Amino acid sequence: MALTGLDIYKQLPKTNCGECGPPTCLAFAMALASGKASLEACPYVSDAAKEALGAASAPPIRLVKVGSGPRVLELGDETVIFRHDKTFYHPTGVGIMVGADLGPQGVAARVKDVVAKLTALERVGQSYSVDLIGVQGTGDAGAFRAAVEAAAAHAGALGLALLSESEAELAAALPVVAAKRPLVYAATACNYASVAKLALEHNCPLAVKGDGLEALAALVDKVTALGVKDIVLDSGRRGTGAVLADLTHLRRLAIKKKFRPFGFPTMAITQPAAPAAEIVQAGVYIAKYASLVFLRAHDPAQLLSLLSWRQNLYTDPQKPIQVEPRLYSVGNVTPASPVYLTTNFSLTYYTVEGEVAASKIPAYILPVNTDGTSVLTAWAAGKFTAETIAEAMQRAALAAQVTHKQVILPGYVAVLSGKLKEASGWDVIVGPREAAGIPAFIKGRAAS
Ligand code: SF4
Repeated sequence: MALTGLDIYKQLPKTNCGECGPPTCLAFAMALASGKASLEACPYVSDAAKEALGAASAPPIRLVKVGSGPRVLELGDETVIFRHDKTFYHPTGVGIMVGADLGPQGVAARVKDVVAKLTALERVGQSYSVDLIGVQGTGDAGAFRAAVEAAAAHAGALGLALLSESEAELAAALPVVAAKRPLVYAATACNYASVAKLALEHNCPLAVKGDGLEALAALVDKVTALGVKDIVLDSGRRGTGAVLADLTHLRRLAIKKKFRPFGFPTMAITQPAAPAAEIVQAGVYIAKYASLVFLRAHDPAQLLSLLSWRQNLYTDPQKPIQVEPRLYSVGNVTPASPVYLTTNFSLTYYTVEGEVAASKIPAYILPVNTDGTSVLTAWAAGKFTAETIAEAMQRAALAAQVTHKQVILPGYVAVLSGKLKEASGWDVIVGPREAAGIPAFIKGRAAS
């Protein structure tokens, strides 16, 4: 049960020295109870008090790491229910499932395909990758071990998950890949004692699969009593609505009520379905509130939309993604090449860049520093003005790059053209409103 501020206050030294930040021990206790302070901030708290307050001082959702080496997947450690309350910290891990029934060669081929096609995707200047390969057992321990070995041999930097509820399968495969610290899935009401022992022996994170939330809470208590600390929660239910409800309850109970059995990252597995339906289902789980999602779909055309969705949710709403505000060239530019003006919001910049490339007419693009806001937002906020644009043109030494004196202004801010001409001394051509109009616009100018 969550401790109250008063419970915590009783354990503090009560000197009111203020070194922790709040002016009194009571204020510190209240901040600790609401998750806004860490016990580490008080240098005078005794070891006995630290032990007693362990639960209260722990983060609402434990950080669990899957994998080893440079690309460890971090799950959980979230502190809010809604992204706009602060931010989400650890993007939902995406795992691709591969069945051991494919045989070692089939598994190797699938894993190689996933690594080749789904670990180096790019969009708006950001890289995207799936995170785990989940090998599904079939009940045959020898076949599972061979499949896991084949997956590990070709997974590269991707982490692994052993998806089997069979103790025999897990016992056969886990020792072979334990150094990679795979996720062991899953401890259930039937096997938890032996599977927890295996996970502990090999120091691997363990997924606990319940049969609904009440059963899950009881099972987590049993597993933690055995000494397992790195746990990932699966309510065990399937179907989009049921899983969405469970994931929402798990997040709310962990953050709002500090219900310790649910203070761990969560996971969901999509149901067998057409790949497009699977992507939609996974998208729902990524939005609310899975820390890890497994699916079978592995076509880049489908995964890219899911990974873009994840990336958009997990950017910090207080820090829009931006490109460096400097002069960029697209294609083999010459001093006669046109110059487009835009803002340094990544999505805006890369949309313009894509259309300029599609026009096949090499050009310069100058994104003005608007703190990562789009053209109209920046204009409304007074960040994309004649003065800021003229200053950016000067800083980029535009006059030294091109022999003409013309810039192309986004059509939505045509109102700035007169003032910009005055402020910069350059001719201002009003371009299309939408980036999609760039190819037709520039080809029309070239033809005239
Ligand atoms: Fe109290 Fe510790 Fe904070 Fe000092 S540092 S006010 S002793 S809680």
